Formats: sequence, structure tokens, C-alpha cells
Amino acid sequence: MMTPSSQGVMSCPCCHHTIGGTATTCPNCHAEKHFGPVSREIILSSLIGFLLAPSVAFLLIPLSFWFVLIAAGGLFLGFAFAQYRFNTDRWICSKQSPHIKETD
Ligand SMILES: [Zn+2]
Repeated sequence: MMTPSSQGVMSCPCCHHTIGGTATTCPNCHAEKHFGPVSREIILSSLIGFLLAPSVAFLLIPLSFWFVLIAAGGLFLGFAFAQYRFNTDRWICSKQSPHIKETD
């Protein structure tokens, strides 16, 4: 989809402060625009895959050296899941409380 490059303004999705249309950080609440997953999400998804795949396999087949491959496959699937799940622009809201700078 084509979107015209805009010089306009938008409102921060986190604090609704007016910011530039091309801004990647919000000067008011320090929210950051991210493309793709943050490292925490990649690690978490990979870890879930790494633990879940052998757990499911354990119910189906006896424990064997294949579990090493299954765990590796789960790790990869978790990693891939994170890439697909979070492959859009997102605003990561800062946990800090917004602070408004005094203008001088
Ligand atoms: Zn903001």
C-alpha cells in the first residue's frame, strides 16, 4: 500500500502528545517506535518453543536423542514466531511516568 510521505503531525499512541509525523521517539513520554520484535520478545518466544516442543514430543514418543533436534526445532519456531508476530511498526510505551519539560 502506498502512503504519501507526510510532513504532518500525529499524536503519540501512548500519551496522545502531538509529535512529528516522522518522529521515532515521543519527547513527552519517551515512547519509542519499533519495527519488529524487541530482544525480550525474541528470547521469550524462543525459550517457549525450546521448552514446549520437547514437552509435547515427550507425550508422543519415548525420550531419545531426537529430543535434541526437537528442542532445536522448537527454538527456531519460537524465534520465527516472534519475527512474524511482531513484524509491524509499533510504539513501545515507556514505563516511566511522563514528564513535561519546562520550556525556557
Ligand atoms: Zn508519548
